[in-house]
Amino acid sequence: MNNYSDNNIRVRFAPSPTGFLHIGSARTALFNWLYARKTGGSFIIRIEDTDAKRHQEEAIGLILQSLKWLGMDWDEGPNSGGDFGPYRQSERLDIYKENAHKLIEDKKAYICFCSPGDLAKEREVCQKNGGVFKYDRRCLSLPHEEISARKDRGEPYTIRLLVPANEILEFDDIVYGKISVNSGTIEDYIIMRSNGLPTYNYSVAVDDAMMNITHIIRGEDHLSNTPKQLLVYNAMEITPPKFIHLPMILGSDGHKLSKRHGSISIETYQEDGFLPEAIVNYIALLGWAYDEKTTLFSLTDLIDKFSLENINKKSSRFDYQKLLWMNGNYIRELDESLLRELIIKEVRTYLDSEKDLKRLTSGPGIEETIKRITPHIKERVKTVKESIEWLSPFFTILEYNPEMRDYFNNKDLDAVPVLNKIILTLEPLKSRFSSSDIEDSLRELSEELGLSFRKIAEVIRIATWAKKVSPPLFITMEILGYDLTISRISDYQKIIT
Ligand code: GLU
Repeated sequence: MNNYSDNNIRVRFAPSPTGFLHIGSARTALFNWLYARKTGGSFIIRIEDTDAKRHQEEAIGLILQSLKWLGMDWDEGPNSGGDFGPYRQSERLDIYKENAHKLIEDKKAYICFCSPGDLAKEREVCQKNGGVFKYDRRCLSLPHEEISARKDRGEPYTIRLLVPANEILEFDDIVYGKISVNSGTIEDYIIMRSNGLPTYNYSVAVDDAMMNITHIIRGEDHLSNTPKQLLVYNAMEITPPKFIHLPMILGSDGHKLSKRHGSISIETYQEDGFLPEAIVNYIALLGWAYDEKTTLFSLTDLIDKFSLENINKKSSRFDYQKLLWMNGNYIRELDESLLRELIIKEVRTYLDSEKDLKRLTSGPGIEETIKRITPHIKERVKTVKESIEWLSPFFTILEYNPEMRDYFNNKDLDAVPVLNKIILTLEPLKSRFSSSDIEDSLRELSEELGLSFRKIAEVIRIATWAKKVSPPLFITMEILGYDLTISRISDYQKIIT
């Protein structure tokens, strides 16, 4: 039985702002968000920004922007506030400190003056001899007076958690099942560094406990951290939340997911013309399935159908081609006026950013062209950005690359006289240059010349489009208009004679 009506459910997404939002972390955010929305619980964002070396302030804004773009909102978080704030760890340092001092008072943590450098050397020697280094607690029984005197002298110190000996630390992960670890394998690890900053396993547990988080949904890479965090809950005498670790996402070749598998930041997908609906749908299927066959889910479907029980522990493979396919699906289903807007924006960005482009000043203009051509390309494009490949010759002065110039060289077809015939055939259509009339006349020409209709179309496509593929040719010619079509054909003729 699940408790989907329990609206005290509180989940959190806790990114470390070290860069953009990527596929893996977007999936973690999504599963948390879906669970909160499904159960009527709260979705919280907490920024884990205490690693000053790796922290990038701008990353916070970018991560939040990407989450919004994907369609996620949050109930508590930085900027939006909430009853359990602050929501940035860097603003919670006093909380970690006070809590650590309470643990010292309760004899569950202690002050340690050992220098990390000395310990690192000891660790190295021990490991060289095949041993497993474990801190030997030499500071655990320092007399009070000595501690005070050394603190007064300004000696740097850390705070270590006193890990109980031989205790079974056990949790029932909703995905990975029962996991238990003997506390004897864990050393008295540092919870507060000498610079006053908390360590990850400590701060994350303090925050989750104090923010009343009920379910921790995060990547499988944190599975091995969980026992250390359980120790903090135990020391604080707080019941731990439920744990749900999400399976690894690998590249299509089974190796660690990276850029070369097509995994780029969510922001880059946005720039590359992916639709948020497609990304969300795709990442929802990385480790979760509703049944064996359904692959297309809207956000509402996902909220409706999502369940933690259907997350599987087998690592999933990121398949860029499948994501592209899915995006193509969403493009086809998108309301046409919305798609048009996206394509117009893409075309404008392209024309403005490519400095060397020679823009065409004639023709029906961007908006009109896109309005007329969109129905004919939406079946073919897989991303909005890809529409540029289909459409750029509508807006730029045609340049024939060497391949296009030599295209008819070794073909048993003399393109120049054929183009002449085409010009003559099209002339009477000057005032009614419609795709159907163009097609009818060219079919007649094909018969007259005894030349296949496909060949005629090929000659026109190379001449008017300078590419081997184009949107449907006669519609394309109609939109280019009579004058531009003819001038392109004549230009090409001149080039190849
Ligand atoms: N800041 C951690 C990360 O980005 C969060 C881990 C957790 O969810 O506990 O991996």
